[in-house]
Amino acid sequence: MGYDAIVVGAGIGGCAAGCALAGSGMKVLILERMPQVGGRCSSIKRDGFTLDTGAHAIFGAEHGSIEEACRMVGKDGAIKWCHFGKMIAVLSDARIYFDGRTMFLKPDKGDSITFHAMDLMDDMLKMVPEQLLETSMSMTSKMMPLVTALLTPIIEQFDDVLMKDFMGRFFDWPRIHDIMNTFQCGMFGSPDWMTSTAELMRTALGVMEYYQPGMDPFELAGFPAGGLISIPATMCEGIVEKGGEVRTGTNVRRIVVESGKVVGVELDDGELIRSPIVISNGGLKETVADLVGREHFDDEYADLIRDLKTGTSGFCIRAALDAPVTDVDMGGILLVEPGGMEAYFRELWQDFTIPDVPPPIYFSVPSNMDPSLAPPGKQLIVGIGCLMFDSKEPYSKMEKLALEGFRRAFPGFDEHYMWHDFLDPNMYIALGERLAPAIGLAQCIGQVGKNRPSSISPVDGLYYVGGEAGQNISGMACDMCVKSGLACGKHIVNNVTVGIAT
Ligand SMILES: Cc1cc2nc3c(=O)[nH]c(=O)nc-3n(C[C@H](O)[C@H](O)[C@H](O)COP(=O)(O)OP(=O)(O)OC[C@H]3O[C@@H](n4cnc5c(N)ncnc54)[C@H](O)[C@@H]3O)c2cc1C
Repeated sequence: MGYDAIVVGAGIGGCAAGCALAGSGMKVLILERMPQVGGRCSSIKRDGFTLDTGAHAIFGAEHGSIEEACRMVGKDGAIKWCHFGKMIAVLSDARIYFDGRTMFLKPDKGDSITFHAMDLMDDMLKMVPEQLLETSMSMTSKMMPLVTALLTPIIEQFDDVLMKDFMGRFFDWPRIHDIMNTFQCGMFGSPDWMTSTAELMRTALGVMEYYQPGMDPFELAGFPAGGLISIPATMCEGIVEKGGEVRTGTNVRRIVVESGKVVGVELDDGELIRSPIVISNGGLKETVADLVGREHFDDEYADLIRDLKTGTSGFCIRAALDAPVTDVDMGGILLVEPGGMEAYFRELWQDFTIPDVPPPIYFSVPSNMDPSLAPPGKQLIVGIGCLMFDSKEPYSKMEKLALEGFRRAFPGFDEHYMWHDFLDPNMYIALGERLAPAIGLAQCIGQVGKNRPSSISPVDGLYYVGGEAGQNISGMACDMCVKSGLACGKHIVNNVTVGIAT
């Protein structure tokens, strides 16, 4: 039996490509080696808790690329999104609380400061006549494609400008650089002395494109009810309803190429499944070097792919508590001394050691947003951060330091602690990529915008999607991976003549 297209890997990039193809009537088979779909955007169950593999803030939420993919397979609105209410940043020298309207800064020393930023904005907006406001917002959102087109060549000029240099023009307060550096490592998998300024600009513009008049700006990011797995599982349900197939626990050993053309894939048991199109979500480097084999590419291309820089890997710590210790939904813990982040990331990235301080952590409290993710009365706190896959020091050192970060951020943590677990880069290697990146390719100078590797490979019928591929695809992690899958799927639907292989 043949298929119009086979997708290797059910990460969210692969699922999004599957949605674009199945939604246009193609017969699609998705093969996933893990027991569940989703790759780095997935969840497992333990003791009544739903534990996510990593991501906790998904840009676009119900207004973004994920919803577009779901819509293609008739699953519009099927994912319910939770939005962040209370947020907190725990710094070594202060705590910043934010409840969506008011920001409250409580330094360790000195007086507290309260900013009513959103109230101020509301008051200012009240001064503008309602009709004028609505008309101008609606015009702005309608004009976004034009704005994007006009800004694209300007933004391209920042492709090779380092974020560190760009930000240095405006700020010399080390704390701002620390916060930006932490933000960038989480968002792009590279620190500010590597990250391209254009990538931040494109990402911001991409998020603005999702904005609709009258929308609460806090809806531009969210967390899926049911945990991360709701995203790929909903896409896969839609693909199956459109006549596609999804097989989990099925490893693809080889993508079979004959006379420069893809003919299908070979599974571990030797079964050959035929298709003229194979889309790999199993990592760009791995696809070229291992799944296809570099002998099918010219040396220049194979070397180029081999030499691409991969983003930093990550860790994910998940703590189960027998009672709630916090009412916030998400936030950050940054206990590194002011001005210390550059040194922190250099130790991590260049010396491959683990600095002796609690790491910068993005955390979320999924059970506050969706109580079904923990047993009644209990709480789940999830923290994520950067960690190199080839660290010279044991990952257990980072685990202890991350736990220490939780203790310092959440009073009562120790009293209510039940257990925790820690996902290290080995887990992310098991998901398919040797260098275990948290996001994918580092969004750094030389490999963003038009220099990002294309989803279309030089081998006829072979495509790549996910965090590693897609020329001119940018954005924040999951959103970018889904955009990559959608763009590749649409390209195939619009440009490739497909006949089912036999
Ligand atoms: C700790 C951590 C925190 C994160 N936080 C966020 C966040 O807050 N917000 C956000 O947007 N993103 C976040 N991300 C990033 C985001 O999760 C990833 O960028 C995204 O999920 C990657 O999707 P992908 O399409 O590249 O697929 P992947 O997740 O790489 O999935 C690839 C799939 O292919 C399968 N596969 C590989 N090879 C084969 C084969 N030979 N045969 C069959 N199957 C195969 C794998 O098992 C896997 O399921 C985080 C990631 C991590 C690790």
